[in-house]
Amino acid sequence: MNILYKSPQHRIIKMQNSYELQNEATNLTFFENKVTQQKNKIVLDFNYMLKANLPINKGMTIKIKHNGVFQCVACQKTVKKLFSGFCFPCLKKKASADNCIMSPHLCHYMNGTCREPEWGENYCYKPHYVYLSYTDKFKIGITRESQIPTRWIDQGATSAKILAKVTSRHQAGVVENTMKEILADKSHWMKMLKSANTRPSNEEFNFMFDKAKNWLINLAEFKNGSLIVSTPEHIVLAKEIEFFPDSPIVEINYDSPTDIASIKSLSLDKTPEIEGKITGIKGQYLFFSNHVFNMRKHEGYITEVEVLNN
Ligand SMILES: [Zn+2]
Repeated sequence: MNILYKSPQHRIIKMQNSYELQNEATNLTFFENKVTQQKNKIVLDFNYMLKANLPINKGMTIKIKHNGVFQCVACQKTVKKLFSGFCFPCLKKKASADNCIMSPHLCHYMNGTCREPEWGENYCYKPHYVYLSYTDKFKIGITRESQIPTRWIDQGATSAKILAKVTSRHQAGVVENTMKEILADKSHWMKMLKSANTRPSNEEFNFMFDKAKNWLINLAEFKNGSLIVSTPEHIVLAKEIEFFPDSPIVEINYDSPTDIASIKSLSLDKTPEIEGKITGIKGQYLFFSNHVFNMRKHEGYITEVEVLNN
């Protein structure tokens, strides 16, 4: 066994471009896109990068070891316990740890109760997109402009298409929440993993897309404008929901195994040392045979990473 790569101190963190095992001293690209543009559709193949020029590939043997130390993703303090990546004080005081991040329709900035109004203005009062994607089923979702296509890769979507552009996270959340009546807003992780690169045909996708769009356009709340949220007066923002009639379908291909009968989730809390051959990668998951390791769930864990090769 030769060790191709060994790092004594990596923190699993969430970067602008998805998940990264980051060495404090360097700022590495986590994934590299290969985009092939075809007629009305974009095909995306990607690699996760462990460090520059070292993609995480199917077939690679990797060891991830956690020594019980965590680092808060917000304040970067070393702590003994994390709450969704945050230390306890940050969980309670950071706007990025507030309920409205997971449920943007509950944005309370306009009530004057945003935990960090300045942060909210920079993060939430920025262009957001509402999209239709396919994971294990059709779902509606929202994302910031800068997170396309990261968000889709992260959730394991095989197809996605932008439905509308709005000027705030709150507005995107309200549209998404309204559309829950006809579409799911969450996918089931195990079903998503089992469905590999399954995707609907362009015709099926566009049929669902038109159906969802028509449903929204014909909704009374859309017609009478009550779906439009109020925004801070000192930030000049357009109020409309802008549709994208000709946005392409983005197809994302994963190096994902097919015919997996059962999948078990690995956790560094239960298994502090995980070693195995990567048999596939989909979204935020690395496959080790019938076990999967969720990168996102381990945000903030300090780990030692080794890449081993026969
Ligand atoms: Zn903290």
